[in-house]
Amino acid sequence: MGLLEKELARYQRQMLIDDWGEEGQKKLRDATVFIAGAGGLGSPAALFLAAAGIGRLKICDPSEVFMTNLNRQILFREWDIGTNKAYAARQALMELNPHVEVEPIDEKITQQNIAGLVADSTIILDCLDNFASRYILNRLAVNTRIPFIHAGIEGMAGQITVIHAPETPCLACIFPEPLPSKKIFPIAGAASGMLGTLQACEAIKWVLGMGENLKDRLLAWDGKLMQFHEIEIKKDPGCPVCGNST
Ligand SMILES: [Zn+2]
Repeated sequence: MGLLEKELARYQRQMLIDDWGEEGQKKLRDATVFIAGAGGLGSPAALFLAAAGIGRLKICDPSEVFMTNLNRQILFREWDIGTNKAYAARQALMELNPHVEVEPIDEKITQQNIAGLVADSTIILDCLDNFASRYILNRLAVNTRIPFIHAGIEGMAGQITVIHAPETPCLACIFPEPLPSKKIFPIAGAASGMLGTLQACEAIKWVLGMGENLKDRLLAWDGKLMQFHEIEIKKDPGCPVCGNST
């Protein structure tokens, strides 16, 4: 099915990019992105994916909006305080782009429910703030071979990589142990916006088959010094998650 006239206008500027075009735009329309966490990373990622015309977004977050979220979680407004983030996100995203279907999921990620939640997704975005849930998602991504875009952020720094089993290292190869973190850690909105936006870029590129995704490389960003570093990452042959999936 072709794009509507309104869609052609909405997406006009991005379709001018080499390797994008109307064909690419249809690929985006047919894609489903699972966004785990509608917080500092999930907000910019979801907004840019919706704006770009990803056909279906599944937004998974069981928490409610607090005043302390609003310095970075740009999906939300003051009047959303006290409501579930996934549902508040749907409202904001539908207002931005009514051509996008948004499925809110008010559930905590567990070993038991994750396969059903992710099911038919094209890509998984790790916009979480804890490694327990990340490891559950990572295992699912390795087992199903769905590409998994990890990002993490603290203060004015963060990191991102694209994981695709069995080709690349998985999250457990890179971080065999969770990174240390406090329950309430410092975080700047522009910094989480940076990393969440990079996640959206990588997801769009994946769907379009454009350029090179950030595979086998961890991109680390230091916002205070405004420096990017690329760290080469390798599969751990003894990895308990992906070690046997070559
Ligand atoms: Zn691994």
